[in-house]
Amino acid sequence: MTNRKFDVIIAGGGTMGTAAAWALSRRGIKSLVLEQFGHVHGFGSHSGETRIIRHAYAESPEYVPLVLRADRLWQELEAETGQQILVRCGGLELAAPGFDHARSARASADVHGLPYEWLTAKEANARWPGFRVPDDWDALHSPDSGFLLTEPALHEMATLASRAGATILEHSPVTAWGAETDHVWVQSGENQYESAALIITAGAWSARLLGDLGLPIEIRRKTLWWQQLSDPTPYLPDRFPVFISDSAVGEIYGFPTFGTPGLKIANHAGGEPVDPDTVDRRTLPGENGDVLQLARQLLPGVTAPVVQSVVCLYAMTPDTDFIVDRDPRSPRIAFGAGFSGHGFKFAPAIGEHLADLILDTKTAPIPRLSLSRFALGMLPVHAGRG
Ligand SMILES: Cc1cc2nc3c(=O)[nH]c(=O)nc-3n(C[C@H](O)[C@H](O)[C@H](O)COP(=O)(O)OP(=O)(O)OC[C@H]3O[C@@H](n4cnc5c(N)ncnc54)[C@H](O)[C@@H]3O)c2cc1C
Repeated sequence: MTNRKFDVIIAGGGTMGTAAAWALSRRGIKSLVLEQFGHVHGFGSHSGETRIIRHAYAESPEYVPLVLRADRLWQELEAETGQQILVRCGGLELAAPGFDHARSARASADVHGLPYEWLTAKEANARWPGFRVPDDWDALHSPDSGFLLTEPALHEMATLASRAGATILEHSPVTAWGAETDHVWVQSGENQYESAALIITAGAWSARLLGDLGLPIEIRRKTLWWQQLSDPTPYLPDRFPVFISDSAVGEIYGFPTFGTPGLKIANHAGGEPVDPDTVDRRTLPGENGDVLQLARQLLPGVTAPVVQSVVCLYAMTPDTDFIVDRDPRSPRIAFGAGFSGHGFKFAPAIGEHLADLILDTKTAPIPRLSLSRFALGMLPVHAGRG
């Protein structure tokens, strides 16, 4: 059965697809979101309860305007729905001697005039008793950092989009799609849908759904751990920041204790390449060796027992920058993919950019995120983080 009621179809109703539906709905555009699983699930890239948001972007100052726009939109979402989405507990970026994360984040803050404090280890340890930062480490404190609550964020964006006319169909995998000169069509099971335009936001399945485009994306299996705390008090959000620690152990990041008991901690570095359909979603004993090693050095209250653990998927590009662009095969298609383990914080701004790309032919892709950087054969290599 062919259905043509929609202005735009969105293939993939996870983080970026939900954000695109919300952005379109704010412009009076009715979208159909097709999601292969339930809306908000544990099989893609958005599981694990929380995501770090930080403005002083170590990866590149070019991301700062995008994250500031996203932050404003997260606040609007909170204001419109009355639901808490963002916990602004501040952030501490730490680096062992010879590792550059904290200094790169400070450089980004300097370019954009963002507030920060550059602290000695002694000052950091005095302010946050949950840390034992080694004497010779760098420490950048950003008061505007914090964490986002993923389920409320996705749920509230979907609620507002639906209220304004979006339709979200769960358990509706896109199995085929095509672009004609005057419309696009999308096949899901027995149903075929048509509309003027298509946005593809299929996360770990994006390269597959975009087929011949040949997106250079590798899927990696990542584990998240909630480690038991000897005493949770120093690790509550009003006295402990989100943190990222760059050292020989890896790029380990963590959150204050919130909701699920324990300290949520993970390693941004590493992770084996996997197929999203066959990946082992169980965490294995001993897989948290790296986070425990770092905790022994940095976090005196963290103990070995695991309260909860989750497997989640990174969709990595070679340069760890996202790919948000039009499909060169048809101006009716735009896509957002390869969010490389640090995309969630940007979601509402990426949703807006996808809406711009699909609605306005004059909108150019953000150069750093464009597909053409690969076609040009220039692959800058720099690190990305959560
Ligand atoms: C462990 C971990 C920690 C992270 N930490 C942070 C952090 O602290 N801060 C931060 O900003 N970011 C972080 N990220 C990154 C962030 O979560 C991701 O960049 C973001 O969720 C990616 O969104 P997405 O829409 O591309 O993928 P998803 O949210 O997975 O959405 C893709 C959706 O497409 C659906 N789909 C796929 N194929 C089809 C099809 N054929 N038909 C229909 N539906 C389909 C999938 O089921 C899925 O729901 C982290 C990621 C992980 C895994």
